[in-house]
Amino acid sequence: MSEITQTEGIISCPYCHDTVPALIRVEAGMRLRLQENANINPAPEQVCDGCYKMMAKLVSKGAALRAEASAKEQNRLMLWKNRVGLIKQAKQYLAQKNFADAAVSFEKYLRVLEIVYDAQPGGLTPDLFKNDAKSQELTVIASVYWDLMRIYDTNTRYAERQSKAAEKLAEFVRFTPIFGHIMKKADVQTRAAKNPEAFKKFLKLSNAKRPRCFIATSAFDDYENETVRQLCRFRDHRLKKSWLGRRFVSLYYRVSPRLASRLDRLPRLKPAARVALKWVAKRVS
Ligand SMILES: [Zn+2]
Repeated sequence: MSEITQTEGIISCPYCHDTVPALIRVEAGMRLRLQENANINPAPEQVCDGCYKMMAKLVSKGAALRAEASAKEQNRLMLWKNRVGLIKQAKQYLAQKNFADAAVSFEKYLRVLEIVYDAQPGGLTPDLFKNDAKSQELTVIASVYWDLMRIYDTNTRYAERQSKAAEKLAEFVRFTPIFGHIMKKADVQTRAAKNPEAFKKFLKLSNAKRPRCFIATSAFDDYENETVRQLCRFRDHRLKKSWLGRRFVSLYYRVSPRLASRLDRLPRLKPAARVALKWVAKRVS
């Protein structure tokens, strides 16, 4: 049911144990403050981007306000750290075909993110995870919504929850490298599922929200950028009008998320990518 795992990153964050592309050094001063003011002892020497941001917040709040505010931040950091464990637990339940407990763990993971990001219940949005290293969380969230859709398909009394998961999946999956993969699996489910309507709804929603130009967006770190827009227009008005163009677009969507995530990990290549894309955009518009 859930063959989606993060296989690319090989480094594990010593604090939250998430697999991440890179670690950030926690400088001595910050470690001291984490140990003395935030009770994180021993403070890790390096952590993932997500943990680093939570710790930085904790340290600055701790210095300014102490007690109450820092207790809240500390709780947030603890939840953030535990989110990886919830996913692992859910996957274990899935492997044992214990769908009820798997769903509970997945839902808990989503609640944790809502608390950490100050979002309303059901109110997570891709924007919250847009910046650099956190974009990896988008893929985890999308695969959680996918697994929930499949779990809730086991019984028609979960139809409403399944429908909510379909909406959220459509919102998140277009920003992830598993977009094409999930679209294909959802297509199969429109024939195989107990409740094919939920999968049809998902496909309809995600087709309406067309995926962004992954590479261009990554190169410019912004999909409102003019060059990105020119390229999207070229895709929609020229490429999609011909058979060969459509073949190219579908190939592009299969290859580009991977290239885009490489690009995100090697930001020093971005200026060159921008020059190349601007050149292409100029040629085609
Ligand atoms: Zn971490």
